[in-house]
Amino acid sequence: MNPSPPAGADVDVLVVGAGITGIYQLYLALESGFSALLLEAGDGVGGTWYWNRYPEARFDSESYTYAYIFSKELFEEWDWQEHFSSQPEIEQYLNYMVDKFDLRRHMRVGSTVTSAVYDDCSATWTVRTSDGFESRAQVFIAATGVLSVPYVPDVSGREDFRGLQVHTGLWPSTPVDLASKRVAVVGTGSSGVQLIPAIADEVASLTVYQRSANWCTPLNNRPITPEEQARLKDGFEELRDTLIRSRSGFLHLPHDRATFDDSKEARLAYYEKLWNSPGFAKFSSNYTDMLTNEAANAEWCEFIADKIRTIVKDPETAEKLIPKDHGYGGKRPPFVTGYYETFNRPNVRLVDLKATPMIRLTESGIETTEGLEKFDVIVWATGFDFGTGALNRMGITGRDGCGLAEYWADGPRTYLGLMCHGFPNFFFPGGPHGSAGNNPRYSGDQSEFINDMLVYQRMHGYLRVEVPQALEEEWTVMVDTEAEKWGFGKQSYFYGLNIPGKPRRYLINPTGRPTLLRIMAELVDRNYEGFFA
Ligand SMILES: Cc1cc2nc3c(=O)[nH]c(=O)nc-3n(C[C@H](O)[C@H](O)[C@H](O)COP(=O)(O)OP(=O)(O)OC[C@H]3O[C@@H](n4cnc5c(N)ncnc54)[C@H](O)[C@@H]3O)c2cc1C
Repeated sequence: MNPSPPAGADVDVLVVGAGITGIYQLYLALESGFSALLLEAGDGVGGTWYWNRYPEARFDSESYTYAYIFSKELFEEWDWQEHFSSQPEIEQYLNYMVDKFDLRRHMRVGSTVTSAVYDDCSATWTVRTSDGFESRAQVFIAATGVLSVPYVPDVSGREDFRGLQVHTGLWPSTPVDLASKRVAVVGTGSSGVQLIPAIADEVASLTVYQRSANWCTPLNNRPITPEEQARLKDGFEELRDTLIRSRSGFLHLPHDRATFDDSKEARLAYYEKLWNSPGFAKFSSNYTDMLTNEAANAEWCEFIADKIRTIVKDPETAEKLIPKDHGYGGKRPPFVTGYYETFNRPNVRLVDLKATPMIRLTESGIETTEGLEKFDVIVWATGFDFGTGALNRMGITGRDGCGLAEYWADGPRTYLGLMCHGFPNFFFPGGPHGSAGNNPRYSGDQSEFINDMLVYQRMHGYLRVEVPQALEEEWTVMVDTEAEKWGFGKQSYFYGLNIPGKPRRYLINPTGRPTLLRIMAELVDRNYEGFFA
């Protein structure tokens, strides 16, 4: 690859997606002297934090652990307002990053990629967009996110409803007026449980349609004090080192004890400590066997169930809110502020869709087996086509006319969750099989690895970079095998279970960052043996 665009190609590196991953990938490419362009479907920068504007959309990774850590200067310049900041601030931060590093002039927004086709003679990709733009690139990088294709269940009569329907992941940028409205929220996953307490106060009535309950625990968010701010800035290097070493990209330290090493009294005290700790600490710092020992998991669940019974005054509602179909970690655990308390309000009602299934939407509302309820607004908090959704919809065609959606018909086949065989000069950082935890820490590692590979490719004048099939097979089998042992997300969208007809395959990385980093380092040591031609 040449520092200037190779003959016939418009750019060296074409990145798709202006989320935290794509922005960093673009930055790295430009820093390395590649010509680069980023295409984004939305009209602005931010990815997840551009699209998910619903009330109380916020991090459940600590703000300063999710943010970029490649630049001390950037870290020092941005004062996060809260330990878990909300959407407006995150969107502002990502825009600040783009302007600080003068990236905007290398971006084209409002431009959805509809096809990307590889030509093996020139080893280039031709990329086309919905707005008639076309570009050729030697390297095509899809940083299109794992949660970027909103999903709405196929309920009959959806087009008949005369009120407003909105998905949390496509929330309008103009305010949605919910004041004194009759509102339905369908779905109680991570987005629904953030939104529900945030709007309960202003709406006339709120009916929550729950398909399955989740193990929600408090986020325990609060503003960052000036003293904490100063400590964060002073401790940047230490914070970065801890994040780099961490299995899941968080600061929470792993516990050193298994559940039944402690007495019952000590365990209850520890659960109470976890309940009062921030965000994912309930997961990352829990007893070492919480996920793998059924009795241990059941005891932690019972602790949470008791909390729910204590908070929610109506015993019948409390029982509905306690998951019966999975243990903690069986689904991605949400973190909440005042969620269970919301069900004590007189204007809030919970409908259990397992007991009273939804039949159809009518022009005035939602009909279940218990009757019709009228609404002004229906909010779909029904999640996303996780992992492969965006990649399978982009019209990606590799060598010999092989379509990616076709290649992945039985689930993704990847190497390190960032490339696959038969698709030379194509990468997808932040994609399926890549992360499990604090996402930017994983996708940042992947972006740096990809960029280093491209620099190596240019240095040695190679035209193509492609993972050998055997290595792709090895990684994919490892993901499937380790997933069964690990058990995290077994009953969830991490296996594609929320999308009818989607193959049941594990879509995240069960090994953690140290394994990913070790394999990447070994490959660099072996000069990427077998990858270049
Ligand atoms: C509400 C919500 C809260 C979350 N909170 C956390 C959290 O606290 N911690 C955490 O680690 N993760 C969280 N996540 C997961 C989150 O998706 C990732 O952290 C992160 O945003 C992924 O960044 P990304 O750049 O890889 O993808 P995204 O931010 O999803 O960006 C991908 C971009 O690609 C664009 N795109 C997709 N297809 C095309 C196409 N064909 N053409 C052009 N553009 C396209 C999309 O429009 C999007 O802007 C959350 C997700 C949601 C939905």
